[in-house]
Amino acid sequence: MADDLNSCRICGEFVLQIPGWSYYVPSYTLLRAEWQSDAPFFEGALHFSCLSGWEHREAFLAEFRSIMTGYGRSLIFEAGGETHTLTQPGFHFGNPIYQGEDCEIFRHTATDSWLVLTQRGPWFRLEREQLATLAELGTARSAGGGERTRLPEGPSLTAEEVSGMGLAELLDLLGSADRYPGLSEGAPEYTVWSYHERKRVLEYSVAVDLPLPAPARTFLASYAREYQPIVLDDETESAEGSGRDAGRKPEGQDPGAAPSAPRG
Ligand SMILES: [Zn+2]
Repeated sequence: MADDLNSCRICGEFVLQIPGWSYYVPSYTLLRAEWQSDAPFFEGALHFSCLSGWEHREAFLAEFRSIMTGYGRSLIFEAGGETHTLTQPGFHFGNPIYQGEDCEIFRHTATDSWLVLTQRGPWFRLEREQLATLAELGTARSAGGGERTRLPEGPSLTAEEVSGMGLAELLDLLGSADRYPGLSEGAPEYTVWSYHERKRVLEYSVAVDLPLPAPARTFLASYAREYQPIVLDDETESAEGSGRDAGRKPEGQDPGAAPSAPRG
C-alpha cells in the first residue's frame, strides 16, 4: 500500500510524481474542499487521470483556479466559538490571455511564466524556454528535476535493480501504469539519481513532453512569437523578495514541486 503522503487522494493508489501527469497539492495552498467531511482543505497527491473522471472535479478546479490566478484571499472560519482568518497563497497568474472550450491560459503578473488550465483537469506551467520551443512549432517539454519519493511496501529491491529499471517497468511494478495514459508518447527520459534500499527512498528525474491540449499549442505557437518579455530592474531582488508563492520558479516546475537538484 502507498503511504498517505504518496497515495492519490482520489484513487488511493501510489503516485509517482511525473510532470504533466500528477501533482502534489501542498498544505499551505489552503485549497478549500467543501465536498470533504473530514477535513476543510484538500492536501496531497493526485493523478491527473483520476482528476479527469472525479465527481468533485469541477469544484476542485474552480477553487484551484481561484488560488492560481489570484493573489491571496482571506478565508474566515468559525471554530470553537472563535473566528479565525487564514490567507490563501496566491500564485499571481492573473492575466488571462486565452479562453477556449478545452482550456484557459493565464500569464503571471510579474514573471515570464504561463499557466494552462484544462477543462479536463490537468494543468501545466510554462516558462520562457518552453514558449520559445512552441514558437518554433516544437513540443513544450518539462526538463524534469529532483523528485524524491518513498516507494510503497513490497518485495525488497536493490539499488542496482531500481537503477536498471525503466520508467514503464517501475510503473508496472507499482501497479499504476494505467494512471499515466499517453506517457510513452511524451518520450519520457527517466533518470534514477539514487535509491536507498532500506528506506525505499528513490530520487529521480523525468523529463517529458507535456500533453498540452492542441488548441493551447496552436494559440501559444503564435503568441510566443509576439509577447513582450517582462524585464525587471533587479530580477534577483524581486524574486527573493516576493515569497515562495510568487518567486520565479526554475526550469518549468510547478509551484509546490520539489526544488531542482543538480543533474547527477
Ligand atoms: Zn489516482
